[in-house]
Amino acid sequence: MNIKLHSNCIPIKGYYRSIIIDLQRKTYYFIPNSMFEIIQQFTKKRITEIKKLYTEEESKIIDEYINFLFSNDLCFYYNDVNEDYFSPLSFDYKSPSKITNAIISVKSNSIIVNKIVEQLDKLGCKAIQIQMLDNIDINELENISHCFNDSRIRDIQLLFPYNEYLEKENLLKLLETNHRITKLFVFGAPNSEIIFLDEYRKFPVYLTKQKIENYSFCGNIHPQNFTCNMSFFIESQFYNTCLNRKVCIDTNGNIKNCPNMQKTYGNIQDTTLTEAILKQGFKDYWFIKKDDIDVCQDCEFRHICTDCRAFIKDPENIYSQPSKCSYNPYIAKWEGQEGWISVEEWRKDNKYNQNRVVES
Ligand code: SF4
Repeated sequence: MNIKLHSNCIPIKGYYRSIIIDLQRKTYYFIPNSMFEIIQQFTKKRITEIKKLYTEEESKIIDEYINFLFSNDLCFYYNDVNEDYFSPLSFDYKSPSKITNAIISVKSNSIIVNKIVEQLDKLGCKAIQIQMLDNIDINELENISHCFNDSRIRDIQLLFPYNEYLEKENLLKLLETNHRITKLFVFGAPNSEIIFLDEYRKFPVYLTKQKIENYSFCGNIHPQNFTCNMSFFIESQFYNTCLNRKVCIDTNGNIKNCPNMQKTYGNIQDTTLTEAILKQGFKDYWFIKKDDIDVCQDCEFRHICTDCRAFIKDPENIYSQPSKCSYNPYIAKWEGQEGWISVEEWRKDNKYNQNRVVES
């Protein structure tokens, strides 16, 4: 009897522990590295053969591992069938879009948004975040939302400062006329809270006391921001999980990889987005994947975690760990958890070979 993980259930080994990502159910399970090693043997040997390699006590642990896999519906038994009958998942990343996502910072000006949306639509962009830094009224919000009427952009996030005249009824009307708006973030609000505009769809509006001009949108690494799905996982094998096929336009019209990066590739007043992305260097960040990044390459979360190249621990090393990550994969602890020490402290006390990459 052989055991096989479903092809959508993928074990990823970290330095201290591993996870199995269930791409279909969009979740993940922690497993010890010893279980990862046993799973690796499933493809080569039958269960009885694997157990022969271990003591009786260890075989009981293998049984517990197998129970865990079955109870979470992560695997199946098969018998006397050629291994080749089970096709693995294809990790081919193909996208017809030259740009898939964009961030535009504007001073509440729908004319400039309209011009940019037209260009993004031609590039195949699917998701856009608009950060409005000035006070905005409902009419201007509606004008901005109308810019998308004839586009193929299907995910719109709007961020704007709190304004007591932006009443719930008006925001609801805005959502009803544009179903592509998926998130509203309101800054400088009296309280930080999540309110629901609509009892039926439970559309959330994220209110925060933080001022929009003080807020840094980039690089916060937290388990709540992990993404467990097929397209993200596959993209992460080859590309950067934040910057791949992204374009940003700041309030001055400068075209960049990220709002928090200094390098610009022209201005939207005299450069088209197509021209900007073809400029030398624009696509360089797209190809920095998690497996290339120091520390992240040893982390079990590396294929579900977003990346950040704007805020990194060592500005001299473009492959260094995101500075807004407080996870230490060498002890599997987040800052604040008992026993946490920083990666740097841990490395001082342990003979760590920086060139090693954990195989997955
Ligand atoms: S170490 Fe890297 S992959 Fe792991 S949680 Fe932090 S940023 Fe994400």
